[in-house]
Amino acid sequence: MRARASIIVVGSEILKGITLDTNSNWLAKKLTGIGFEVARILAVPDEAGEIEWGLKALLEFSDVVVATGGLGFTEDDITSQAIARALGLNYEFNNEAYKLIEQRHGEDAVKYVKAAYMPSGAKPIPNNVGVSPGFIVEWRGKKVIALPGVPVEMKEMFERYVEPLLQSLTGRISMRAIVVTNHMVEAEVDELVRGLRRMEDVYVKTHAEKPVKITIVVYGGDVKSACAILERVIGDVSRRLNVKSVEKPLECSG
Ligand code: AMP
Ligand code: MG
Repeated sequence: MRARASIIVVGSEILKGITLDTNSNWLAKKLTGIGFEVARILAVPDEAGEIEWGLKALLEFSDVVVATGGLGFTEDDITSQAIARALGLNYEFNNEAYKLIEQRHGEDAVKYVKAAYMPSGAKPIPNNVGVSPGFIVEWRGKKVIALPGVPVEMKEMFERYVEPLLQSLTGRISMRAIVVTNHMVEAEVDELVRGLRRMEDVYVKTHAEKPVKITIVVYGGDVKSACAILERVIGDVSRRLNVKSVEKPLECSG
């Protein structure tokens, strides 16, 4: 079974159209890159019941759920509490999390004490950019990872602490390439690449642009094998279509 990840975006500001949800797109790309099948992206308001419902639903078919948003010290930040409730864990003061806040904020840490409350057994993730630590909590062989909503904080924490850990779970990576064709009609390209869509672990997306573009995503056990698979699919595409140019990952160009 392929490792499956889902993303829960917490924030009423997203659902009211105030903030554009860029976090889920960034996380989806990252999670796919380290070999996950991203199963769902779900946005919920800052309401405990909604977060609980969403997390439980995603855990039914995901090995990992990454939450972003609502993780902090203000009144509307209730993600940690809702995660604890959804998993049937206590919501409690985490000493290690408080120490992390103290390291960065000294005496001011008391103002942020709420950010040190987490589900029992959670492992805090340092926040080297802002205030609120994130956390990882294990639950029935699955992982729930909570990260702040502020994009610069979320990205730094994911790349530094979460990505290496999750990479070791999947045992594979993915690579993508963009093929620009000389075709102007998407339906024509669609027909020509149809057979490629049936290959396992190969995703082919045609884009309705003029000229038509194709994005290819392949999975492999390591960089070398993923690049080899990517080359093979690009070769297949080039035989079927009139190709203008190909944009490949740097790792595959050597
Ligand atoms: P929060 O941690 O939910 O209080 O979010 C803090 C700030 O991060 C918000 O005011 C937004 O500007 C930004 N933010 C939250 N969620 C997202 C998201 N999914 N995509 C982009 N920006 C976000
Ligand atoms: Mg929010």
